[in-house]
Amino acid sequence: MKTPKICKTRQELKAAIAEANPRSLGFVPTMGALHQGHGSLFRIAREENELVVISIFVNELQFNDAGDYARYPRQLQADVQLAAEAGVDIIFAPEAQEIYHAGLPLIKLASGRMGELYEGASRPGHFDGMLAVVSKLLHLADPRQGAYRAYFGQKDAQQVVLIRRMVADLDYPVELRSVPIVRSEKGLALSSRNALLSEAEKEAAMVLHRSIQLIADRAANHEPLNIEDAIGLFQMEPLVQLDYFTVVDPNTLEELAFNCQDTPFTGEGLILVAATVGKVRLIDNQPISA
Ligand code: AMP
Repeated sequence: MKTPKICKTRQELKAAIAEANPRSLGFVPTMGALHQGHGSLFRIAREENELVVISIFVNELQFNDAGDYARYPRQLQADVQLAAEAGVDIIFAPEAQEIYHAGLPLIKLASGRMGELYEGASRPGHFDGMLAVVSKLLHLADPRQGAYRAYFGQKDAQQVVLIRRMVADLDYPVELRSVPIVRSEKGLALSSRNALLSEAEKEAAMVLHRSIQLIADRAANHEPLNIEDAIGLFQMEPLVQLDYFTVVDPNTLEELAFNCQDTPFTGEGLILVAATVGKVRLIDNQPISA
């Protein structure tokens, strides 16, 4: 197993990519505290590209809650090990001042209406902050020649939609790939934040997956979704505070109100759920079609 090269500065990253001179580069941005969800992105990038570059950077700009930023797990050594096992070649792990070298950005990307829904409503500024860093990282890892692909998890469905729009609207020369959610054996979507849950909270968090399954099964059977039944499941979990449970159009993210109640479900949808378990905010989702 080869140890990935660790680059702390943009110059080191640029030099390492130039030295490899790859015909194709797969880039995976992360915030570290890596788990097999990230591992799945790395492996797919490994299969599809000559060079695999990942970044590990906890981006302060996308945290609207200072406590959440302070608590976010950081574990570079374990991350290097997981990345090595997945065949990553280069890890870009900059300090904040390397990314925001001229201070926090004056010129900003605005995620617009789609960035104000769901996660954006509960975490004001989150998506603008996410776009601020992803837009820069996509430049920094750009090989400038050969194929360039970037990989994102379907776990963060709203993020994927917004990054697709950014890449299209700003003509980024990168091909985007989205990768299905990796779950624990019991069905909990893997997340770096799961490490902050107690055993009891982990058990209680299973309601996210259970509620999604209930509605996804109804969709598959062309039944009315009646999403209030899913919402009812949360009321039986005292450790879990539901933020939203909704079914949306997968392209526009607008709510599919007419499909969710009395009429049989048809067409395409995306179930989105967010809840706080103890102090930890969790999200999950699942595409549905019938
Ligand atoms: P993060 O480190 O949380 O910013 O995540 C980095 C990338 O990994 C994002 O594109 C996430 O969507 C993706 N990711 C995180 N968890 C999972 C998971 N359970 N399954 C698939 N992708 C994931």
